[in-house]
Amino acid sequence: MYFNENTVLFLDGKWLKASETATSLYNQTLHYGNGVFEGIRSYETEHGPSIFKAKEHYERLLYSAEKMYIDIPYTVDELTAKTYKLLELNGIQDAYIRPLVYLGEDLHLNPSSDVHVLLAAWEWDKYLGDQLVDVMTSPFQRPNPKSCFVDAKVTGHYSNSILASTDAKRKGFDEALLLDMNGYVAEGPGANFFYEKDNKLYTCPTGNILPGITRATMFELCELLEIELEERFFTPEEIRGADGAFFVGTAAEVAGISSLDRVPFKLSWEDTIGFELSKAYKRKVLEQEPVYIF
Ligand code: PMP
Repeated sequence: MYFNENTVLFLDGKWLKASETATSLYNQTLHYGNGVFEGIRSYETEHGPSIFKAKEHYERLLYSAEKMYIDIPYTVDELTAKTYKLLELNGIQDAYIRPLVYLGEDLHLNPSSDVHVLLAAWEWDKYLGDQLVDVMTSPFQRPNPKSCFVDAKVTGHYSNSILASTDAKRKGFDEALLLDMNGYVAEGPGANFFYEKDNKLYTCPTGNILPGITRATMFELCELLEIELEERFFTPEEIRGADGAFFVGTAAEVAGISSLDRVPFKLSWEDTIGFELSKAYKRKVLEQEPVYIF
């Protein structure tokens, strides 16, 4: 699914066949989850592929790396150019792009200086699908921001996401909603969360979440469309049975939520602000002119 015999990767300055690459089983990222990554999408437009907010994604990758004391030997522009080349070499336009910075053989508890930069791309449908999702408040909290840089996209942080999502699915739900260490709603395992009440949208402030690039795009779209949006802390009890809710993220895009803890949201999805924003988001990702910096 992720690659076939023709798939090409960028790895440490070289263009290689995905099927012919390998990594050491002693690598630090494999053992300790010390690596950083991104999830980016490109869209087919009339001008060719357009990578949505490449700059913001690569700036976040460099930020995540800096927080983990990892030196990435590329600039934002270089990474962007290589990503366009990656799409071209693989002949794909509507793609999910996965930059991964992983570390080499070193099993001491300090960052290895053997830094590897991988860029991969494949065709991937909307992460949560096109149907509305039933969500469960997770018993797992997001990591305490005093235990890590929660706003950095670090590979190891995702064991928390996997636990929460798996637990929710085993209990018959589609996805989990995680709280922060104070019991307020934080985010989904791989997406930020918004809810709607009385024609107004709410989302939690930053601090205990990965502040998503799609979340920031929602703020821009709300401003443009004159939709009221407020950042506030709220509990699951306060929002069960509100008018609507949705997740946003690069992989999920805008994904409507039908219920929280089996309590349905009041409005049908098509009548919500979330639905309007999902259409506006689709237009927005296609409107950007591609930027080739070869
Ligand atoms: N929260 C978490 C935990 C995520 O993994 C993601 C996906 N990167 C998001 C939120 C959404 O971020 P973005 O909109 O930048 O994809």
